[in-house]
Amino acid sequence: CGIVGYAGPRPSSPSPRPVEVVLAGLTRLEYRGYDSAGVAVIDENQVRIDKRAGKIANLREAVAGHEASDSQVAIGHTRWATHGAPTDGNAHPHRGGRHGELALVHNGIIENFAPLKAELEAEGFEFRSETDSEVAAHLVAREMERMEDEAGTDHTDLTEAMRRVVAHLEGAFTLLAVHIDTPDRVVAARRNSPLVVGLGEGENFLGSDVAAFVDATKEALEIGQDQIVTVTADAVSVITFDGAPVTDAKRYTIEWDATA
Ligand code: GLU
Repeated sequence: CGIVGYAGPRPSSPSPRPVEVVLAGLTRLEYRGYDSAGVAVIDENQVRIDKRAGKIANLREAVAGHEASDSQVAIGHTRWATHGAPTDGNAHPHRGGRHGELALVHNGIIENFAPLKAELEAEGFEFRSETDSEVAAHLVAREMERMEDEAGTDHTDLTEAMRRVVAHLEGAFTLLAVHIDTPDRVVAARRNSPLVVGLGEGENFLGSDVAAFVDATKEALEIGQDQIVTVTADAVSVITFDGAPVTDAKRYTIEWDATA
């Protein structure tokens, strides 16, 4: 339903943690309605996920129960369930990979999730939810593993992993992923589902809607159909699903009436 991503952190102090920036964005998206909410960060080389059925207030409590993380990135989601009941376990983000090294959020529906799930289960990937979305988490993590084997080193590329996966997905999706090998970036892809980038100073944002980050920046970048965007604190790069660089993404200033 709603998606937020952040790469920073803010250079100014006191700087809110990425997870707090994302929680604020999710709160901004509450008006769209949702049944569950969750966030993921990368903390000391591990993916940490908090997710709860019900209100964002429940999620905030869960997040407040931890030590502050040193994550540079965070992703968040408000869910409107289509596949699987609105439970804590079916809430996003979903963990991907044999060691849970990736987290992913998804808006929309992956129509061909059933055969993909069967294939992944046969390969030993363990599913923790009833959602269509979780296949995307394992597929992207699997591409990262394959790349490591190909290169014979630990050179992995989350953008390329996402690109290889979206070619196999049918339906509507906005996907955001973070991985422990690439702790400075969020990679996002979209088909038949909205995604916009918020451009900040020393920080960048992703949202299903500009409301996700309009408190922080009014500068936005439109992401086209069948495109992938990679966001770090100081760079944003866009490619097509075919891997061609997109150099003409439309940049615009959000007109927002704060009193409305
Ligand atoms: N189809 C996914 C699910 O049921 C995502 C739903 C959404 O867009 O919130 O978990």
